[in-house]
Amino acid sequence: MEAIRPTQPGGPEILKVAKCPTPTPAAGQLLVRAEAIGVNYIDVYHRTGQYKTERPLPLGVEGAGVVEAVAPDVQSAKVGDRVVWCGTPGSYATHVLVNAERAVHIPDGMDSKLAAAACLQGMTAHYLAHDTFRLGPGHTALVHAAAGGVGSLLVQFAKRAGATVIGTVSTSQKAALARQAGADELILYGEQDFEAETRRLTAGQGVSVVYDSVGATTFEKSLRSLKTRGYLVLFGQSSGPVPAIDPQVLSAHGSLFLTRPTLAHYTSTRAELVARAKALFATISAGALEIRIGRTFPLADAESAHRALEARLTTGKVLLIP
Ligand code: NDP
Repeated sequence: MEAIRPTQPGGPEILKVAKCPTPTPAAGQLLVRAEAIGVNYIDVYHRTGQYKTERPLPLGVEGAGVVEAVAPDVQSAKVGDRVVWCGTPGSYATHVLVNAERAVHIPDGMDSKLAAAACLQGMTAHYLAHDTFRLGPGHTALVHAAAGGVGSLLVQFAKRAGATVIGTVSTSQKAALARQAGADELILYGEQDFEAETRRLTAGQGVSVVYDSVGATTFEKSLRSLKTRGYLVLFGQSSGPVPAIDPQVLSAHGSLFLTRPTLAHYTSTRAELVARAKALFATISAGALEIRIGRTFPLADAESAHRALEARLTTGKVLLIP
């Protein structure tokens, strides 16, 4: 098999494919031949060392493919099944050991690329819109990076829930994509002051919830864009980590709520994982959620995929194909 396992954190140039022995599944595991691998921003945090992982770095957390071997104790899947997973380290590889408890069967008729493109970002957008803050009619949500992988899906779930959506993006091309996803208003946050624009668009009130995955460069203004008792959902840090804050800040800006959720805690049991994946796949199959694959790269060119993601040149989902 082939895998990308750099020995030390570093820049995109460390993403080199190397041959290694194909493993045998241990108790509870499946060996899956990957047909499509999801690229996620968390892969950048792992590659740079911003989030700590073991060494060599088991890069990649998401993929879809065909089961090639099954540990004797596994009942839930068999050789030949098509499965998708996320949250499994070492997914930048032709073959991946997946905990059977974390693998979900791909619905008939859905190809592996679509399944891999939907899984992590789709379930994230799903829990953010339905569980971290239950969006509904009467709510206004500010969604940063609204043309990105999670962002463009979150806009769609928010609109389906009946909320009004204000999106931020860096370019007019991304604004067009976010509008296509359903955003009511777009702010070019590199050129416009998004706090002032959000106040203007909400007649001075501020929004019910801000979904902030950008972090360092947006956090402060996100807090200031909320209405009284609004929710700041900080779920990423693509521009860098947010400095420590004094909880009094939440009081000063209007008795705000702050949460820092992560997908693992919203799919923590097998039952919750399967229920969320089923809800996501059903929405896609019903034609009510568009998964847009922005770009695909060969696994051997993961370096270019990371360069594009970090340079803000991607929209929608980025995939690696083994
Ligand atoms: P995206 O496709 O959204 O790519 C990141 C986007 O962030 C860019 O396209 C860019 O959009 C924006 N951005 C703003 N500032 C920067 C910067 N300095 N450098 C790079 N990008 C910047 O990635 P994903 O959909 O994979 O992930 C989005 C975010 O969600 C990440 O922060 C990720 O960690 C987080 N996430 C969190 C999860 C959770 O459960 N907590 C699960 C999944 C993802 P623009 O050009 O429009 O500004």
